[in-house]
Amino acid sequence: MTKIAVVPGSLDPITYGHVDIIERSSKIFEVVYVVILDNSAKNPLFSIEERKELVQKSTSHLPNVKVDTFNGLLVDYAKKIDASTIVRGLRAVTDFEYEMQITLMNRFLDESIETIFLMSQRKYSFLSSSIVKEAAKYSGKVSELVPECVDKALREKFKK
Ligand code: ADP
Repeated sequence: MTKIAVVPGSLDPITYGHVDIIERSSKIFEVVYVVILDNSAKNPLFSIEERKELVQKSTSHLPNVKVDTFNGLLVDYAKKIDASTIVRGLRAVTDFEYEMQITLMNRFLDESIETIFLMSQRKYSFLSSSIVKEAAKYSGKVSELVPECVDKALREKFKK
């Protein structure tokens, strides 16, 4: 049986923290689907197509990683692609309560799908898409925190 995992997120935009988690997942699983969830509750900076393109460019060095988008329940997506595992990244303790809530909800919805947590390198443990957007908005230098294509896309978005 092929070991398939799904790495979900808003990825608005992808950062080196996400890339780190995706790289780690790609070493553990045979196939990894990074799925960008079109969550209408959030007000994204990048469209779903823009986010998908940035994730594709940022993970093109990983042959067993596929990029997809989905609108709906994550467990339904996992079932659709035959994934047995959801991988989430953990940063500081602040992530814990939120992650616990969604993990238990996903388990309630589908007992057969397991969620596992990976930690990124320490240097990315404070990093989030929102903090990067905030810095980029005011022309802060974020080139060490995001892939080059994302840095460029952020500069385009916030061009005055
Ligand atoms: P969501 O909107 O689902 O929280 P995000 O795109 O913000 O999605 O994050 C997707 C996943 O990546 C989450 O599990 C999040 O905890 C994890 N993640 C984001 N940034 C980092 C980071 N710097 N280090 C480790 N995990 C991270």
